[in-house]
Amino acid sequence: MSTKLDRNPVNFQFQLLAQDNRARAGIFSTPHGELPTPIFAPVGTQATVKSITPAQLQEVGANLILANTYHLYLRPGDELIAEMGGLHQFMGWSNPMLTDSGGFQVFSLGGINQIDDDGVTFKSHIDGSSQRLSPEKSIAIQENLGADIIMAFDECAEPYDRVYNQLAMARTHAWAQRCIDAKTRTDQALFGIVQGGIFPDLRKQSAEYIAALNLPGNAIGGLSVGETKAEMHQILEVVDRILPEDKPRYLMGVGTPEDLINGVMRGVDIFDCVLPTRLARHKAVFTATGRMNISKAVYAHDERPIEQDCACYTCQHFSRAYLRHLIIAKEMLAGTLLSIHNLYTLLKLASDMREAIIQGNFESFSQNYLYKIYKPDQEPGS
Ligand SMILES: [Zn+2]
Repeated sequence: MSTKLDRNPVNFQFQLLAQDNRARAGIFSTPHGELPTPIFAPVGTQATVKSITPAQLQEVGANLILANTYHLYLRPGDELIAEMGGLHQFMGWSNPMLTDSGGFQVFSLGGINQIDDDGVTFKSHIDGSSQRLSPEKSIAIQENLGADIIMAFDECAEPYDRVYNQLAMARTHAWAQRCIDAKTRTDQALFGIVQGGIFPDLRKQSAEYIAALNLPGNAIGGLSVGETKAEMHQILEVVDRILPEDKPRYLMGVGTPEDLINGVMRGVDIFDCVLPTRLARHKAVFTATGRMNISKAVYAHDERPIEQDCACYTCQHFSRAYLRHLIIAKEMLAGTLLSIHNLYTLLKLASDMREAIIQGNFESFSQNYLYKIYKPDQEPGS
């Protein structure tokens, strides 16, 4: 049985520096460095943030990155990564890192053969082989990978199915306890995950259960999976009142610039999402006035950068016309340059929000930001 001290080693302290209404600014300490919150974590699914080198990640201001347990377990295998010195060394990233539990991918990618109270049997999406993940197995894999923050194995249900959400939530709670019991390393912070779909009473029950486990951080799972923005905001408001103030809150798989603002407004500290790099591969970029598709013919002779006042490497050196040319010519550099801009935009937003919270003007900052995005009759990037 773990003690409270074991679960909160001194290097996983969360220090709250400032609060502005529900928005918080803090510092979360990990073995690979301190994380200033609010923070956005780029996603490195296959132990690489697609098309971006670790040096470029540091240049755009990334501090925490996420890698996917499901993918790395299937290929190249967590034991191989442990043999190569762990994930930090394997991928050349010396800052903090987070791994998910594999649960979300099993339920979204794997052909599920069987879910029972013990775990999940699924078919590998790579070679069709039969695989099994359980709370104990997920923790063993994450211990081999060696990230600073690891996640409890959970079951993510379809958000509107109440009966399934009740079942998945009960399993998620039992599995969280089994993850705690299975954990052997003391240099990794295990976060619990709140589930419960779009149902406020289930979310309340789940947040109370997960909070009582007294883990060094708490996550909110099962959002941004098909529910409306209003439903997501309502659920965040429910769990924000229950999760402990002195632990970081992590909203999994979210987002867009507007999602980050709306999350921070409701007490969230940590975010991750594939969106900035995925959008970049689909030729789209974030701007202060909404998303812009840089491959459009209208940009063929456009000398301006994506954003006039953006300090990222891409905007400092290249025109819209050049970026569009790279896309049309199917050059690899296009994905890299667009990813740099998109990642920079979200990371800069997180650090600007932090500054605004510390200065006590988060409300006007967030209103201005959201107003520009939703302003009617305006071309993105103009
Ligand atoms: Zn830029």
